[in-house]
Amino acid sequence: MSSSESNDQSQPAYKSRLRELHPSTRAILAGYASKFSERSVKPPLFRTSTFEFSSAEEGRQFFQRAYHLPGDDGKEPGLIYSRLNNPNVEIWEDKMVAIENGAAFAAAFPSGMSAISTTLLALLPVGARILYTDPVYGGTYFFLEHFGERFGYSARAVDTSDLSAVESALDNSPQPYDMVFLETPSNPSMTITDIQAVVQLIRTRNGARTLIAVDNTFLGPVFQHPFLQGVDLVFYSATKFLGGHSDLIAGIVLAGEGRGKDLIGVIRDFRTILGGTLAADTAWMLTRSLETCWLRMERQAEKATKVATALAQHPKVERVLFPGLLSENDGPSYVTYKKQCTGPGSMITFYLKDAGFKEASRFLDAVKICHLAVSLGGTESLIEHPRTMTHSDMSEDDLERCKITNSMIRLSVGLESSKDLVRDLFDALDQI
Ligand SMILES: *Cc1c(COP(=O)(O)O)cnc(C)c1O
Repeated sequence: MSSSESNDQSQPAYKSRLRELHPSTRAILAGYASKFSERSVKPPLFRTSTFEFSSAEEGRQFFQRAYHLPGDDGKEPGLIYSRLNNPNVEIWEDKMVAIENGAAFAAAFPSGMSAISTTLLALLPVGARILYTDPVYGGTYFFLEHFGERFGYSARAVDTSDLSAVESALDNSPQPYDMVFLETPSNPSMTITDIQAVVQLIRTRNGARTLIAVDNTFLGPVFQHPFLQGVDLVFYSATKFLGGHSDLIAGIVLAGEGRGKDLIGVIRDFRTILGGTLAADTAWMLTRSLETCWLRMERQAEKATKVATALAQHPKVERVLFPGLLSENDGPSYVTYKKQCTGPGSMITFYLKDAGFKEASRFLDAVKICHLAVSLGGTESLIEHPRTMTHSDMSEDDLERCKITNSMIRLSVGLESSKDLVRDLFDALDQI
């Protein structure tokens, strides 16, 4: 590869070859060419609210495109104002499109919830019908169950890892669903949904009418690639593994070829007017973090496998939910995990034996290396109590059904030595 070609994404040869490269290489190469910025190897930070037009005519044309006014030629509008677009945000979006297999378009947001809520507001009609994974991330649940009413949504939670439950929900719905929102593995129950099978059930009934979205925060972009299973939208809380250092809040939605262009176009219009725009500084940090995404997630998964294996053997631990511990005895979950995921990730959920809130608290107060904090996907290990923290907004019925009990603990394994982590957890288990 000649150096000028390898460094120049404007050349079609580079673009076509990019797809042949491993995503970890794309994460480093894609989205930015030094020749546009004084040959600076790393992108400069465009900390500006507004951009100068080269002429009044150019300004007129950019607005025509940005606001879809008569005469809009459908091209990218050009840089206007950082609520609409900013080079650092675009570099990160372009990198994300390059590393997510099957993605073609993206819109970045200042949080994962902003990505999810803005997308739903942009794409769903008033009175939309939504089927979603039970359980789902607490904020998503809150939006669908509490705010959704204002927009006339009817949202229904189903254990999407159970295909017969999905089938009967689809068959019993008087009208087709407008959206099916999947989260797999689910948070915090770690249930695994067969994305391809759900896509098939929906497409054979409703064709493309139903938008299918996956929140891929737990395993992607390294271990799970939902566009390859035919979904329309992929969400990330970039606060987690994409940022990877627990030092920022951000989110993104991606879409595939074909109608993905229109979907992201509408989402961007809503983003511009609702005003939830990612800051250039945060986009710059995410661009840097992406370069180590594979390194971090692969190492964290190795460490999590060791921690989960050790926990599973401890007499005070009743049960460990971790994809890497699934075996043939676990039936469909194991089969789905094997065909859909290329690694287990680093989220572990486990149940303490014979424990109520008091025992769980004693354990959580005794850990020293793991931080007692919500969030996940950082370089440091984080431990929390879903029932009273991340999922405390769920109703008693929902908590019982999803087995989010007082004895359940959620652990995000970071990059500390797995030996130190196991010792810390075992010492704390002795305190119960
Ligand atoms: C954290 C999280 C979100 C929300 O993201 P924020 O960046 O906190 O807004 C959504 N989905 C999942 C699975 C998450 O873990």
